[in-house]
Amino acid sequence: MKLERHIRNIPDFPKKGIQFKDITTLLSDKKAFKATVNGLAKIFKGKNIDYVVAAEARGFILGGALSYKLGCGFIPVRKPGKLPYRTYKHSYSLEYGTNELHIHEDALPKNAKVLILDDLLATGGTALALVNLVKKFDADIVGVAFLIELTDLKGKEKFKEYPVYSLIKFDI
Ligand code: AMP
Repeated sequence: MKLERHIRNIPDFPKKGIQFKDITTLLSDKKAFKATVNGLAKIFKGKNIDYVVAAEARGFILGGALSYKLGCGFIPVRKPGKLPYRTYKHSYSLEYGTNELHIHEDALPKNAKVLILDDLLATGGTALALVNLVKKFDADIVGVAFLIELTDLKGKEKFKEYPVYSLIKFDI
């Protein structure tokens, strides 16, 4: 299935110069959504992933479905003030703006095998924040996965230590 056909490009959102890749058109298509989750699950089946770690909001949609499919746990990473227990935090820059992400400080047990997931790799700042949060634990990062990679932004170069996977690549 050509998953890229289900992604809608919105020019100049949320600000001028950004080509926003809208995945709502993929999520609403039952075959495309299923093919996406199955496509990601196929890569990681047999890798004994214990947890998928993903950030709100779009990361939760794919992260929840993929965790269910892999039969592993899901760890939500959230914006400030959302997680109820004590947290570790990390600040990072986006393709448009800055943000801070939090993870519960007891989220991952020792030696957990972790897959980091996000919907889209742009500059890599968000996924790198997830990597840095997981590094606060004695965990093993198996890989960093995305539905979409924007190759021209070269975000992949931030993850030399880990395998990077994506189902769709766009050059812009
Ligand atoms: P970055 O941290 O620069 O890799 O940006 C990735 C995060 O920002 C992802 O969680 C995306 O949801 C969002 N994002 C950044 N750029 C875009 C884009 N062009 N289209 C859609 N989402 C984007």
